[in-house]
Amino acid sequence: MNAGDFASTPLPNIDGLSTVSASLLAIVLSHGHRDHWGLVPKVNPAIPLIMGKATESIIRAAADFVPDAVVLNANQYLEHRKPIQIGPFTIVPRLVDHSGFDAYAMEIVSGGKRVFYSGDLRAHGRKRKLFDALISDPPRNIDLMLMEGSSLGRLSDDETFPSEEDLETTFVSRFEQTDGIALVACSAQNIDRVVTIYRAAKRTGRTLIIDAYAAEVLKATGHDSIPQPAPGWSNLAVYIPQRQRVQLKAKGIAALVDDYRGFRIWQEQLAGSAPRSVMLFRGWMMSDLDRANALVGARVFWSQWDGYLAEGQSGAALKSDCDRRGIAFETIHTSGHAGPSDLKRLAAAVAAKRLIPIHTFERLRFPTLFENVSLINDGEWVEIL
Ligand SMILES: [Zn+2]
Ligand SMILES: [Zn+2]
Repeated sequence: MNAGDFASTPLPNIDGLSTVSASLLAIVLSHGHRDHWGLVPKVNPAIPLIMGKATESIIRAAADFVPDAVVLNANQYLEHRKPIQIGPFTIVPRLVDHSGFDAYAMEIVSGGKRVFYSGDLRAHGRKRKLFDALISDPPRNIDLMLMEGSSLGRLSDDETFPSEEDLETTFVSRFEQTDGIALVACSAQNIDRVVTIYRAAKRTGRTLIIDAYAAEVLKATGHDSIPQPAPGWSNLAVYIPQRQRVQLKAKGIAALVDDYRGFRIWQEQLAGSAPRSVMLFRGWMMSDLDRANALVGARVFWSQWDGYLAEGQSGAALKSDCDRRGIAFETIHTSGHAGPSDLKRLAAAVAAKRLIPIHTFERLRFPTLFENVSLINDGEWVEIL
């Protein structure tokens, strides 16, 4: 279901979502993207929530920094290939490659019937091996597969998205061509992308500068293989922009910056280090950089969905700010979702008796691309025979 704003979007008509009902045992979140849990704050808080551990901690870490923040507490965690039992349902999660960290597909088994839910996934990110593993060892005897199709309509059937490695190569060449600071506008929660940018920075002898929000999100992954202000990491620095300093004080959490000791970079150092720096950046940070005289020779790289650059969207203001300041602006991005050819490989490997399109604006294309497709409307119950 595609929802509008939080206030005006009603809960789906499912028994137990707003009232108490024994028929609703839990809500399982495949990953932390808001399109997957946006309405959870409206449901009866007694319903158990199940999600990945890193998903829970990233949402918690982000809550101190993002507007309309929510904290979701998990009753149980999803773990790669570790079955969990919820009433009569056995759920076997499969960690997948996606732009959201700690994302799962899952097999749901009950009464001898088997459903496979793809979650959101792709095969061209930094965890593509997980997609290959899913194809070579797919869930068996699936009666019903719910498969996402976000990319359909964005790519023609034979086109493919660039990989994160392709992006890394592009960033390396652009950073080499940039005289001053390279400013990359990307979501700190797109961990794959932060890793791509970090690697490109390191390869070009630059330091990646992050703010407290990104630092906390990276720490919350719980993986020491992800760059973060911690012992052993080089080419990484933390800058606390003026506005964030005020925000941290107002929230009473200014002490968290103590953890960044040894990694801090200060406003008066920005201009001098600009030619050797890459910054994970958002539009409102421009005034800090301006005040620090750190914008000489700067370039901005937009590394998120192009839709945010449309009139009235958040990216449009940044784009026009760059135009006004004469700062070059370029998009370097790839999708968080599988293209049609990878979806075809997945559908063929699972070979479900029925395949139902979800999470797509192009469900009418499913029957031409995949076998055994049934089109089901939102709110319609499906019987598994
Ligand atoms: Zn997602
Ligand atoms: Zn999604």
